[in-house]
Amino acid sequence: MALASFLTSRLHHLLDPWQSATRKSRLRDYALQPGAFLPVVHIHPEALHCCEHSLCELLIDDAIRFHRRNAPRTGFRRRGVPTAMLLDMERYPTADSYLRAVSKRSHGNVPRAAKKAARLGITCAPIRPESYVASISAIGASKRFRSGGPVLSAWFHAKAATADTGEAPAPPPCPTHWTMAWGAFVQEESGPRLIAHLSLRRVGDLCRTHDIMCHGDYLRAGAMKLLFIETTRWLLDRQAPETQGLRWLMYGAMEHGSAGLHEWKRLMCFEPANLVVERPVAAL
Ligand SMILES: [Zn+2]
Repeated sequence: MALASFLTSRLHHLLDPWQSATRKSRLRDYALQPGAFLPVVHIHPEALHCCEHSLCELLIDDAIRFHRRNAPRTGFRRRGVPTAMLLDMERYPTADSYLRAVSKRSHGNVPRAAKKAARLGITCAPIRPESYVASISAIGASKRFRSGGPVLSAWFHAKAATADTGEAPAPPPCPTHWTMAWGAFVQEESGPRLIAHLSLRRVGDLCRTHDIMCHGDYLRAGAMKLLFIETTRWLLDRQAPETQGLRWLMYGAMEHGSAGLHEWKRLMCFEPANLVVERPVAAL
């Protein structure tokens, strides 16, 4: 499964130049011309407090490498590089203010779909992905083509050898540098079954989504919409130590995925921007 998701990410990376053909029309959805100047957001990857966990440095280095491709375009890099889609959390003092903005932009459709999923008994909670290997494997195998592109694990699916163990996640060692996951569940006679998952990685004041996937049988039930709303609600409630001091939420790249995925990001109030992730000069 890990190999299939690695190869899927490499395949999507190879598709970058081809996907950049969508750039012009998608910028127009934000009333921006093809050569328009995009806002440049400076990300602060370090923590305000002192954190010395060994994972922190690894996550900071990884973020600097990963987001290099979202930097402002210059020279030969003008083509084929992805534009980050960002939500400025500072604009939304509460989760309700964000949900009102989403409702306004989607004419009530997104909250309605999420409510439908809740009515069907779908619930959301933080998960430890390692404890749901069987369900995550079944979710990946349930649909070969998705809004983000082809999913290789669905083409070469091998049933997971271990059943879900369902252990709850432990809090990350550092509240500023972490990877956490959320899941959506349906209630069955044998207990709750995971039908969608979403991962978040926080580095400093930026948090990005990744590994977002819903079982093909539950897409129309609104499970993904409910899961996304419940996860952003947790972020914007700013109650948990892991959510404090966050400013930016990133959802992939503008050029990536289908027109439907692009529209979904627009409805969720994400906007195109360039990113610069760098350490403060004093820390060099
Ligand atoms: Zn840290």
